[in-house]
Amino acid sequence: MEQQNLTIKKITGKIKLLTGLHIGAGSETIEIGGIDNPVIKDPRTGLPYIPGSSIKGKMRSLLETSEKKFGGKDKDKNGPCNCGKIDCLICKVFGNTNKDSKTGITRAVFRDCFLDDESIRMLNERNLTATEAKMENTIDRIRGTAYNPRTTERVIAGLSFDFEIALRILSGDDEKQIKEFIKKGLNLLQMDALGGSGSRGYGKIKFDKLMYDGKNMEIAENAQ
Ligand SMILES: [Zn+2]
Repeated sequence: MEQQNLTIKKITGKIKLLTGLHIGAGSETIEIGGIDNPVIKDPRTGLPYIPGSSIKGKMRSLLETSEKKFGGKDKDKNGPCNCGKIDCLICKVFGNTNKDSKTGITRAVFRDCFLDDESIRMLNERNLTATEAKMENTIDRIRGTAYNPRTTERVIAGLSFDFEIALRILSGDDEKQIKEFIKKGLNLLQMDALGGSGSRGYGKIKFDKLMYDGKNMEIAENAQ
């Protein structure tokens, strides 16, 4: 492949939690205190964070649904698009493993999002913890009884995380098209939910103070 110029454009902002957020730590994590379903935490601080991979994965699947792009004819029809075609924004922006890929490097790098200073200050001032435990039952519809009670940990509503995507723009790229595609994804994410139990109302977020390359970036409130 010929040598291409690379420019990095940063998208920064805040992710504000409008409802509690649950991004699971995985079953290999042992939590002290009787929580069945802990949230993922930064081992350095013990505070919850949002892995960049969680945002990337959710945004990709929402855009794939919206663009009607899936695995296609291959065995995993509902899997991620892996066409590797030069004009496929999903494969170009989020990456693919197609051996004949024409898309080049993955354009969007999603950083892990940590609690912002203001949220940490607020927690300290009010003597609050960043997470809460919610008891959840599965309801037996026939007997009308609850069974299998589990405690799920979630990050409390009202906290904000610092958000960043690094966009790699190559010389042949249509920067505006890639930017608009990311904006659409951010908007879909805002209308949908992040993390687990979205259908129970968890993980409603709002992007705030979004900047593209140091300039204000608006994403439409209710656009489809
Ligand atoms: Zn594709």
